[in-house]
Amino acid sequence: RAITNKEQKLAVVGSGGVGKSAMTIRFVTSQFYDQGYNPTIEDSYRKQVVVDDEAVTLEILDTAGQEEYAAMADQWYSFGGGFLLVYSITDRSTFEAIPGLHQDILRVKDQSYVPCVVASNKCDLGRLRAVGQLEGRDMARRLSAPFIECSAADGVNVDVAFRELIKLVRRNEKRM
Ligand code: GDP
Ligand code: MG
Repeated sequence: RAITNKEQKLAVVGSGGVGKSAMTIRFVTSQFYDQGYNPTIEDSYRKQVVVDDEAVTLEILDTAGQEEYAAMADQWYSFGGGFLLVYSITDRSTFEAIPGLHQDILRVKDQSYVPCVVASNKCDLGRLRAVGQLEGRDMARRLSAPFIECSAADGVNVDVAFRELIKLVRRNEKRM
């Protein structure tokens, strides 16, 4: 196989408090770092991984901000080649925000398809569940995105979600 080391730019987006930072840090460090909920910290991380026998250097943008930072959003969307769309199963409004985010991404990138994975986070909090798994799956299907329930706290499926996204970005690059 060819020794290549492609770069991918990924952005983690979603409403405040859904666990974007926790998921990013879980993926990058394999730890759950409870920094408390700080909605304003935006950071980017680099990580090298091997997926399907191919190395890739990731630059991951952990986005931060709600309405007041909406102006930033266009920059994130231009930056990303793939998007992890995160909501929390404990907060219905975060689920409802996803289709709008997805639309904004397509609009800013002026594409009819952009690689995205829907990550429904905090699945460890089953007793506080406000969004059914089937609803999540349906919504993701409408966006043509894989759906993955995960928990940054317990380290469930976070790697799976990022790896799925890396594969989608790769496939999309081959199409173009
Ligand atoms: P962000 O605003 O989307 O970056 O959210 P954070 O990553 O800062 O997480 C918000 C809060 O939810 C923090 O208190 C986290 O510890 C907590 N949290 C994040 N992911 C999980 C998870 O999978 N399960 C549980 N129980 N709490 C989580
Ligand atoms: Mg954050």
